[in-house]
Amino acid sequence: MTAALAPDVADLRHVETWLFDLDNTLYPAESEFMALIEGKMTDFVAREAGLPLEEARLLQRRYFGEHGTTLAGLMAHHEIDPKAFLDEVHDVAMDRLVPDLVLRDAIAALPGRRLIFTNGSLGHADRVLRHLGLDHLFEDVFAIETADYLPKPALATFEKMTARHGVVPRAAAFFEDSEKNLAPAALLGMTTVLVGAQAPASTAAFVHHRTNDLAGFLTAARVKDQDR
Ligand SMILES: [Mg+2]
Repeated sequence: MTAALAPDVADLRHVETWLFDLDNTLYPAESEFMALIEGKMTDFVAREAGLPLEEARLLQRRYFGEHGTTLAGLMAHHEIDPKAFLDEVHDVAMDRLVPDLVLRDAIAALPGRRLIFTNGSLGHADRVLRHLGLDHLFEDVFAIETADYLPKPALATFEKMTARHGVVPRAAAFFEDSEKNLAPAALLGMTTVLVGAQAPASTAAFVHHRTNDLAGFLTAARVKDQDR
């Protein structure tokens, strides 16, 4: 008897460059690690705007919604030093992040090169990747500094990233927990994969694959030069 392929086995045999978002993609959102950073962002906004915490939280959400990141909103409406902001908000304990060996092995087995494409900072990406034991698996990190502080989903930032690394979109897959950040990727011709507990409910046409189990998805996927 031949075992039937599970319906969610993705055909990724065309993929030569594997692009991964970092936060809430390479570790589960349920860790609530980002809540630590968001709390520090709220403190920063409160201080900068002279607002009580509750109002600062609302302003921060507005900046995030309208500008893509809290930082982009702060840069548009306040005179702040982006590096000082990034250093302050990313100075958090790492113990909510638990290394996932199954995910590590699944990423390590991907044929081709792997890059991180994050709206976070270079220092943050470095700390998180090292804590998760994933730092040796990625060729480079394209972070918010590399993007000149213009966050995903700006198309210009996607174009800057592909130009910098010579990424051929048709031969690339992008893994993200934020649905809106996949739209420009699909527009450029990349294969898009929405990651996280919210992913299965997504109905956006620019989302090509959805998974709430990234390690399982990668392990099951058909990839180049591998018969599996
Ligand atoms: Mg993310």
